[in-house]
Amino acid sequence: MTDPILIKDHIRQIPDFPKPGILFYDISTLLAHGPAWRATVDRLADAIGKMRPDKLIGIESRGFLVAAPVAYRLGCGFVMVRKRGKLPGSVIPHSYELEYGTDTVEIQTDAVKPHERVVVLDDLLATGGTMRAAIELLRKVGADVVAAAFVIELNFLGGRHRLDVPVTSIVSYD
Ligand code: IMP
Repeated sequence: MTDPILIKDHIRQIPDFPKPGILFYDISTLLAHGPAWRATVDRLADAIGKMRPDKLIGIESRGFLVAAPVAYRLGCGFVMVRKRGKLPGSVIPHSYELEYGTDTVEIQTDAVKPHERVVVLDDLLATGGTMRAAIELLRKVGADVVAAAFVIELNFLGGRHRLDVPVTSIVSYD
């Protein structure tokens, strides 16, 4: 098994992005490094496989990069939660509060069946608002949300305490 420190070594921190004063944790360098990215996907797959999901859900857009290879490894379905207006056909929307204003996420009406076990994935957990909205949307369609999983967790923002499902992350920062 690969040491988690190795994975952390491939996550780049970019100051003042997207705004002055924000430190951005960038997984581009992790994605670009074959062994470190494979170790990341394998560790997520090992943890999530034990939860026996029917489907994995990726949150737009970096959540797609994380959820799709894990779903492939586990042999389960992959479903997208996207921002408003991006998904074709019949969709279920869910609006949620931001610091200033609101945002809306959507899922295709037939993408998840009632009572299917799903795990929701994203690249990074900060305040938890994005994941919370995705979980609320999935519950609207009757999914059984068994966990939330991330590559990176920012412990100092306490996002996991805003989520009412078990949280898994591969690397964390205090
Ligand atoms: P939250 O809703 O505050 O938990 O923010 C998490 C969402 O914002 C995720 O969809 C992340 O992709 C994105 N995000 C926030 N901060 C970062 C960062 O430093 N690096 C990468 N993505 C981030």
